[in-house]
Amino acid sequence: MYKSVIVGTGPAGLTAAIYLARANMRPLVIEGPEPGGQLTTTTEVENFPGFPEGITGTELMENMRKQAERFGAEFYTGWVKSVDLSKRPFKLQVEGKGEIVSETLIISTGASAKYLGIPNEKENIGRGISTCATCDGFFFRDKEIIVVGGGDSALEEANFLTRFASKVTLVHRRKELRASKIMQDRARSNEKIRWSLDKTPVEVVIDESGVTGLKVLNNSTGKVEVIQANGIFVAVGHHPNTSFLIGQINTDDNGYILTKPGTTETNIPGVFACGDVQDSRYRQAITAAGSGSMAAIDSEKFMESLEQ
Ligand code: NDP
Repeated sequence: MYKSVIVGTGPAGLTAAIYLARANMRPLVIEGPEPGGQLTTTTEVENFPGFPEGITGTELMENMRKQAERFGAEFYTGWVKSVDLSKRPFKLQVEGKGEIVSETLIISTGASAKYLGIPNEKENIGRGISTCATCDGFFFRDKEIIVVGGGDSALEEANFLTRFASKVTLVHRRKELRASKIMQDRARSNEKIRWSLDKTPVEVVIDESGVTGLKVLNNSTGKVEVIQANGIFVAVGHHPNTSFLIGQINTDDNGYILTKPGTTETNIPGVFACGDVQDSRYRQAITAAGSGSMAAIDSEKFMESLEQ
C-alpha cells in the first residue's frame, strides 16, 4: 500500500514527486509511454525560469526525474489500464505490475496536442513542426510561418507569432472559422497575417535544411498548391489524457478534470489533479510545475487529516 501514487511524468507529476519525496511520502510515480510529456517534443526551452542559457526539453525533464529520485521517489514504467476510485484506498491496474493500492492519487497525465497525420509531419516535430507558439515562436524570427487550424488557439498563435515572423499564413480546411468573433477581428486587423481558407493540408514539404512549406488541397478548385514557410504550427486542438478515468471523476465536456478553484482537489477526496490534464488555458511547463507542487501539498495535508 502506497501513501501516494502519481500518474504521469511531465513537469506537474515530477514536481509533485519531488515535493512528496521530500515530505517522506515515498511516492510511486507511474510513467507512461511518453515519459517527460509534451516538453520532450520540443527542442530548446527558453522560458523556464532558472536557465538563462535555455535547456532542452529532454534535459529539463531528466533533471526533474533525477531530483525526485534523489529524495526517494520510486518510478515504474507501465500503462495504467484502469482505476477504481469508488472508495479509498484507490486501486490501479497497471500493465506488468498488477494491482497497486494507494491512499492518495495525483493525476498528472497531461494533454496531447492533436496532429494532422500527414506525411513528413511527425518526423519533423521540433525541426520546423511545432504545436506551441509560446515555446518555439522565438526560433522563427523574420521567417515565414504557417499556422494550421481555425479555432481560438490557431488565431491566438497566429497573432502571437507575428511578433517574430515576417509573415504568418493561416491555413484552415473550411471557409468559415470556428474561432470567436473577437479573436477573428483581432487577427483580421493584423497586417502580417495572410489567409488561406478552404485548404486541406496534405503533406509537409521538406528539403535537407528542414521544413520549406505545406502542400494543401484547395477544396473549391481541387488543385494542389504549396505554401512556402520555414515553420508550421499545428493548432488543431488538444485532448486531455483521461480516457482511463472515464465515468470515475468529474470532467468538463472536453474531458479535462475539474478541480476546485485555487486547489488541485477533484470531486473525489484524496484524488488530486495537476498540470494540463486540468488546465486547457495556460498549458505552460512552469504553470504545470506550480500546480504539481500544489497537488503534493494538498495530498500531504489530506494524509495529515486522516492521521489526526
Ligand atoms: P478547437 O477544437 O476549437 O479548434 C480546432 C480547429 O482545428 C478547428 O478549426 C478545426 O477545424 C481544426 N482541425 C481539427 N482537426 C483538423 C485536421 N485534422 N485538419 C485540419 N484542421 C483541423 O480547438 P482550439 O485549441 O482552438 O480551442 C480549444 C478550446 O479552447 C476552445 O473552447 C477555445 O475557445 C478555447 N480557447 C480559448 C482561447 C481564448 O479565449 N483566448 C484561446 C485558445 C483556446 P473545423 O473548424 O473545420 O472543425
